[in-house]
Amino acid sequence: MVDRWPNVAVPSLPTLDVEPRIGGVPIPREVGLYVCGITPYDATHLGHAATYLAFDHLVRLLRAAGHRVRHVQNVTDVDDPLLERAAATGTDWRELADSQVGLFSADMAALRVVPPDVYAGVVESVPLVVDAVARLLEVGAAYRMAGIPDVYATVEHDARFLRTLPVPMGDAVALFQERGGDPERPGKRSRLDPLLWRAERPGEPAWDGNELGRGRPGWHIECAAIALEHLGGAPTITGGGSDLSFPHHHMSASHLRELGHGEGLLTMHTGMVSLAGHKMSKSRGNLEFVARLRHEGADPQAIRLAVAAHHWRTDWEWRRTELDDATRRLDRWRTAAVLVEPGSSSTLAHELAAVLADDLDTPAALGRVDEWAGRVLGGDPRARADAHAVAAIDALLGIDLQDLPRRRR
Ligand SMILES: [Zn+2]
Repeated sequence: MVDRWPNVAVPSLPTLDVEPRIGGVPIPREVGLYVCGITPYDATHLGHAATYLAFDHLVRLLRAAGHRVRHVQNVTDVDDPLLERAAATGTDWRELADSQVGLFSADMAALRVVPPDVYAGVVESVPLVVDAVARLLEVGAAYRMAGIPDVYATVEHDARFLRTLPVPMGDAVALFQERGGDPERPGKRSRLDPLLWRAERPGEPAWDGNELGRGRPGWHIECAAIALEHLGGAPTITGGGSDLSFPHHHMSASHLRELGHGEGLLTMHTGMVSLAGHKMSKSRGNLEFVARLRHEGADPQAIRLAVAAHHWRTDWEWRRTELDDATRRLDRWRTAAVLVEPGSSSTLAHELAAVLADDLDTPAALGRVDEWAGRVLGGDPRARADAHAVAAIDALLGIDLQDLPRRRR
């Protein structure tokens, strides 16, 4: 396994009687959650942070509400973009991946994200992918190219794939091209067929693929194979940024069906974060990094609050004022936390759980804490006697009001 970041202690709360729903869909008591992880070459910009914080809020809510959650996340620690970046910078691809995984882990730990139960790299998962590709060949859902023995999935074998395309075919082909696909490669049966196994090329890393020959995994089958291995079937919830909805999640879902594992319950796609008017992207160079903000002295908990002020479904724009607002909000909450007195009420915990249970509405949750802080600071004895308020803010929102930044101690 790829090294996870250290566990984050989550305080326990009184029983919360809520039935969480996402997009109106009730979440079952047993949840297999699969969140697509990073390709480690540009970690961790705020778009990444927004995605992993959204799923952290989900995991925290579900566990606090008594659900059993098994959270699996992958790391695409070998793929074309990583190899291209390594080549462009004259770095060994393994060193680049290791250093970026380390940076991502440090950011996640600073943001107090609860680590996944399983954190699996693709390099260690190659045998799972080899088995999955071999099965897809057996059932006629995949084929070998003539000449170079790359293996592709044939999307026409999966009737549901084409029937459920989220956009018209022309747009699907364009998105596939833009997001790592190769629609124009000669010899493919359909332009949307995704790569499952890339045969070894000179100068590229490769692993033993048994009857597939030496090579390396395609991206979509990687996530399908890791989910199957560690969740035992299709994920209840599949998550990632909205730019993964097509083709990535559509392709992985098709692979799972073809492997005989049907549909998960739902997908959750988080909104894109933009900077200076455009979605943060490597090609445009308009990235803001969690590590840079931290090194400039930003309190990681304020970064967390700045992100949580936006609903996970929405696209939004990062501005420096977001961080200033969040820092002021955090200071106010901390001041209120000091004034809490022993008591038995748990009003805020129930209020937070109720708004989060409705499509994980973190902006509404922050509003509830603002109101609580206002009552505490105004001297309201009932608000001050809410003995579980500070624990609820920690358990559900990941903000530990008793953990002050070092420079303030
Ligand atoms: Zn994935």
